[in-house]
Amino acid sequence: MQGPNGSAFKPEISRFRSSTLSETECTAELQEILDHDPKIQVLLHAIFNLNGRRTLVRGVTCRTCKGTTQQDKYGYYDGQYKRVVICCDNHRSKQEVRNTLIHELVHAFDASRKGAFDSIAHTVACGEVRASRMGQCADLPLEKQRQCVYEDAVRSTESYCDSTHTAMRVVSQVFDQCFADLAPFNSQDE
Ligand SMILES: [Zn+2]
Repeated sequence: MQGPNGSAFKPEISRFRSSTLSETECTAELQEILDHDPKIQVLLHAIFNLNGRRTLVRGVTCRTCKGTTQQDKYGYYDGQYKRVVICCDNHRSKQEVRNTLIHELVHAFDASRKGAFDSIAHTVACGEVRASRMGQCADLPLEKQRQCVYEDAVRSTESYCDSTHTAMRVVSQVFDQCFADLAPFNSQDE
């Protein structure tokens, strides 16, 4: 997942498809995933159980992100408008849409519960470790997975820190605790 100087959660080139998804294609894949994917169901139920639909009142949408401040991202959780946005133009497959959706729903879940850290950078780092562990890095063998999570978390935490070095330190400080925190999944669900 690492680019030479990539920003947070940057797309990688898929071997399976050369063109990115249109808004219509992305929405169709998304609907299918929302309706049938058990992991997504667990996340949505957990979010709604925590505080009704307030954290996700506008749901999940696919949109084109090119030309916006989010254009380098796969997707994002918008805490102000209470929605998850999938950047369709940075996705090439249903699997990528699913990974992004899990990642961003973990952020929405974490936005609904009390965090474990006082500092914003540590809170962000912990959320990124969890979202990457359960999202785009989920299916890797353990050592590769830890590397994937660490690198993606550092990239996503950098903008909350004064340097990459600080981001690396912050991510390292929260890593083990947050990597082990699989809420709302328990070991049977994984
Ligand atoms: Zn993230």
